[in-house]
Amino acid sequence: MNIDIMTTDQLAQMDQLISTAQSVLVVCHKSPDGDAIGSSLGMAEYLRLRGKDVTVVVPDQYPDFLHWLPNSEKIVRYDKHPGKCDMLFKIADLIVCLDFNTPSRVEDMEPALVSSPARKILIDHHLKPDVDADLVISQPEASSASELVFRVVWQLGGFQELGKAFAIPVYCGMMTDTGGFTFNSTRPEIFFIIGELLTKHIDKDKIYRNVYHNYSYDRIRLMGYVMYEKLVYLPEYHASYYAITRDEQKRFNFIKGDAEGLVNIPQQIKGLKLSISLREDTEKPNLVWVSLRSVDDFPCNLVAERFFNGGGHLNASGGRLNCSIDEAVEIARQAIVAFADTLK
Ligand code: 5GP
Ligand code: MN
Repeated sequence: MNIDIMTTDQLAQMDQLISTAQSVLVVCHKSPDGDAIGSSLGMAEYLRLRGKDVTVVVPDQYPDFLHWLPNSEKIVRYDKHPGKCDMLFKIADLIVCLDFNTPSRVEDMEPALVSSPARKILIDHHLKPDVDADLVISQPEASSASELVFRVVWQLGGFQELGKAFAIPVYCGMMTDTGGFTFNSTRPEIFFIIGELLTKHIDKDKIYRNVYHNYSYDRIRLMGYVMYEKLVYLPEYHASYYAITRDEQKRFNFIKGDAEGLVNIPQQIKGLKLSISLREDTEKPNLVWVSLRSVDDFPCNLVAERFFNGGGHLNASGGRLNCSIDEAVEIARQAIVAFADTLK
């Protein structure tokens, strides 16, 4: 199967940008998810094969359920080591940007990224790429940035020499951005890639368990509580929302990542088209994190853009509100009503 994504010119440029660099940074978006970390670790492994000095720098904390990934212990957090990272950005020859379409997605790391004299490559699958890079590989129809890393490396001819340290994070990123291959994952190329990754003797079932069967007792109880006590279902709109307060998070000893995946659960309600999650920040007052999920052609990214200062993919988006949780609930209800025509 031909899975090439770069034109001949892009391939030559990619190869040249890598060949001429020695010190390389691999970066991804704030609050990195499985795809951000997976694509970064996969790309870093390929660059190491090419003999580069590679550092993966991430803006901040990433979830516990990714800490088992090979080489994740080498990841440097910008929020913990800003001085060291600023220096790395200054001396880098090349920066590979993964899984984000605009510099503001790296938040506090943005000035260091934008002002770095390094050459830049962007590999991403979000709509409307807006990063000032020497080479942009943007494929919004791809399942994940991890899939794109695979295809870039494949086309560069590096795959044969790589092992598990490449295949595991790439598989993990593709898996997490498609909900375990349950959405955005119907194209045959994806299963061709999985077949190739399995030739490296990765244990895909174990990767699944490491990521999805990694809950604490508290997290399972939080899930039960939210679904039983907090979920508001609006059958006439085929929509649902819930709002989690700071106190509720405290009650269940909330740690970062515990909200991950909760927003997907209401989608198991028959016919549900839109699920909205509202969660008070655990520290800052008047900050509410918003996650949205939809099915088929209902564009939750438009809801995120219009009502929640955010955006994202057609079926998975996010945003934030600077207001109280009660006001956020009002906004969510208004958003659902505003999209009634498409939801009903
Ligand atoms: P999550 O609900 O997992 O936090 O986010 C789902 C998806 O929405 C992410 O993969 C990300 O691409 C996108 N997203 C989340 N927050 C924002 C945001 O503030 N702006 C944009 N443009 N996309 C976001
Ligand atoms: Mn992604």
